[in-house]
Amino acid sequence: MSSPKAPQRQVPPTPQAGAPLGEGTKPPWLQLAVGKTRRALLTVFRRGFIREQLKYRRGACRQCGACCRLAFPCPFLNSKKLCVIYNLVRPAACKCFPIDPRDLKDVGGTCGFHFVGATEAAADAQAGRAPGRHPQQ
Ligand code: SF4
Repeated sequence: MSSPKAPQRQVPPTPQAGAPLGEGTKPPWLQLAVGKTRRALLTVFRRGFIREQLKYRRGACRQCGACCRLAFPCPFLNSKKLCVIYNLVRPAACKCFPIDPRDLKDVGGTCGFHFVGATEAAADAQAGRAPGRHPQQ
């Protein structure tokens, strides 16, 4: 007499052993939390770096709100998803978003800003074209 077969269990795929925890391998929440912390620290300790990076930023804010929901929804969004402190005390990390191309990855390409290379930035500066800015920045 044969014993009844045990029900088969679905085994989730195991992450590759020894795989580096780098770009694209972090869980989204961790990547977003790291990005949020990085921006907050940069606005306090690396203002020169931010000023330099913003010279390469082009485009404009489309007010999509994607950067207001990174890691967690901002508590200053009202029921219509509008920022209630936009013209009052908006944090520097919000005013500066995106600081560099790393930040664009966090919003999945929805941002109205992009970054150009050094040659284009130099040509724009010579022609007097301003980098991309937020309204009221
Ligand atoms: S900065 Fe970019 S991601 Fe944030 S609201 Fe503006 S367009 Fe959207």
